[in-house]
Amino acid sequence: MNGCVTEGGWPGDWNERMAGQDCPMCRAIGKGDNDFWVHVMTGETAEVFLERRSRLPGYCIVAWRLEHVAEPTELDPDHACQYWHEVLAVGRAIQAQFQPIKLNYMTLGNTVPHLHTHVVPRYPNDPAPGGPIAWRDIFSTRPLPDSDLHDQAAGLRDLFSRTRTPFL
Ligand SMILES: [Zn+2]
Repeated sequence: MNGCVTEGGWPGDWNERMAGQDCPMCRAIGKGDNDFWVHVMTGETAEVFLERRSRLPGYCIVAWRLEHVAEPTELDPDHACQYWHEVLAVGRAIQAQFQPIKLNYMTLGNTVPHLHTHVVPRYPNDPAPGGPIAWRDIFSTRPLPDSDLHDQAAGLRDLFSRTRTPFL
């Protein structure tokens, strides 16, 4: 296959991205906070981050933290169970701390194909009641203050420590 050909608009280096070449998520994992995310916790298979620029309080990204994997179908059954276990633990913590009326779990990877799941809380006053929320409606242009994000991250960590979750 020719790596320079774009089929239907997918990036020309798509195969390389799928294989983990220059993967920005591989570079971010294990490095703590960055310009986009605040680190919340590290699990057996995943790291959890709060999105800095979110209109939806508590929006977290759960990122597979071991070697580069693009699709959950690449995981062996034990790793797959553990990954989803950790994703659901994040969902429970968000429910307890932020009390959304619904959670959306989005495992997309259509730009950065490194296995990760967006855990997106939905609220009564959010911009897309009753349907999927558009990407542009999730994000704000300005980040939340660092102190607020770190308070939220500490709250989520506390919930995990009190509920004996699989996180380290
Ligand atoms: Zn990666």
